[in-house]
Amino acid sequence: MALTGLQIQKLLPKTNCKECGSKTCLAFAIKLAGKKIDLSECPYASDELKEILGAASEPPVKKIELGAEKELQLGEETVLYRHDKTFVHQTLLAININDTDEPEDIDKTLTSVKDYRLERVGEKINIDMVSVTQKDGDPEKYVELARKAWETLKIPLILRCADIKTITAAAEAIKGSHSVLASATIETADELRQIASSNEHNLVVTAPNLDELVALTDKVKKDGFNDLILQFQTHSLAEQFQANSIARRIALKKNFKPLGYASIKFLESGDFADDTVLALNEITKYGGICVFPSFDPAQLVSLMTLRLNIYTDPQKPIQVDPKAYTIGEPKADSPVFLTTNFSLTYFIVSGEIENSGISAWLVVPQCEGMSVLTAWAAGKFSGPYIAKSIKEMGFENQVTTREIVIPGYVAQISGELEESLPGWKVIVGPQEAADIESFVKVKFG
Ligand code: SF4
Repeated sequence: MALTGLQIQKLLPKTNCKECGSKTCLAFAIKLAGKKIDLSECPYASDELKEILGAASEPPVKKIELGAEKELQLGEETVLYRHDKTFVHQTLLAININDTDEPEDIDKTLTSVKDYRLERVGEKINIDMVSVTQKDGDPEKYVELARKAWETLKIPLILRCADIKTITAAAEAIKGSHSVLASATIETADELRQIASSNEHNLVVTAPNLDELVALTDKVKKDGFNDLILQFQTHSLAEQFQANSIARRIALKKNFKPLGYASIKFLESGDFADDTVLALNEITKYGGICVFPSFDPAQLVSLMTLRLNIYTDPQKPIQVDPKAYTIGEPKADSPVFLTTNFSLTYFIVSGEIENSGISAWLVVPQCEGMSVLTAWAAGKFSGPYIAKSIKEMGFENQVTTREIVIPGYVAQISGELEESLPGWKVIVGPQEAADIESFVKVKFG
């Protein structure tokens, strides 16, 4: 929680010595509260103040880094509702493998995870993690499976193993992956903390209820380890929803550090539909890592699409680069279409042109990620603006076509566009992208 200038001043020496460049300690404190000066400017700042300000500047939800290059992150969230600002790090989706699975099934899952790619509005989406669960008592088999998963996929793992010796060996075998060890209880926290620390992994902590979980995170942090992930021991969707919400709310609203961590949920209801709903809850309600019991592309495609919607920054519309795109293999005299660089619009329009079976050019000016009517209202889709973009792209030298099909919703710009693009004829296309195919058949068929 941020301190006020008066609160900071009480912790300063109050000698008004001016060495910091401020006339008084109060003036310095006010600047410090407003983040206009650094505490190091005062050579007499107490350790207590340094500690308090350091804690106050920590994000309410601890940042966790995963992967060899620390390419995946969790935490650092600052709002309860996406529309207040944005959610920062999306829920990571993981697939579980048991060491009791048949070898051919393990290979099949690893290959499926490795090859899985979902493309949505220009984003290429992969599976983030794999969980390796010990169900057999054979330590070597488990360690070999963890090693194989890491070497095959090079994505961070979740080592879910109750045997301390086995998880120690597995953690060492995948050192450098910045993975996750699961799950430390009050009884095993000391040992697992040391294993996580010495192998640079993160640690899941779990307890039967929130009070005991708070005591456990507090203890592990005081013992010097803070790369923690929470696992709530819940038994229903309602309980999980409640635990996720309480932890995130108290972390953000009260800056309550013992619950200021990302969470993990293993989907184990045994029912496909129930697991899917639980996953949906994790994605929409603050889940950090969600572990699926098996690989199912149909389940993933809907949940990854949902995740993309939830974690897209509402202040920054997703957009494609402004340029002339090719659809199929257009020639210099192929038809030319126009749309905006809002990703959703671009991919719907380009998909419909592709479906129509013709090769064409699709000209996309810089519209700052706005849809057709919004861009037009903002002056980013006017005749002169589009003409200027086309000229800057050098597109007129690329094609001999001198007809351009514009979206039906901006039929009103056809005159000004023709005036701004001498020699071009503007064709008003359909309002809805779904009608492009029939439009193409009539116009170019
Ligand atoms: S240097 Fe420190 S003690 Fe001196 S005036 Fe500035 S804040 Fe006060």
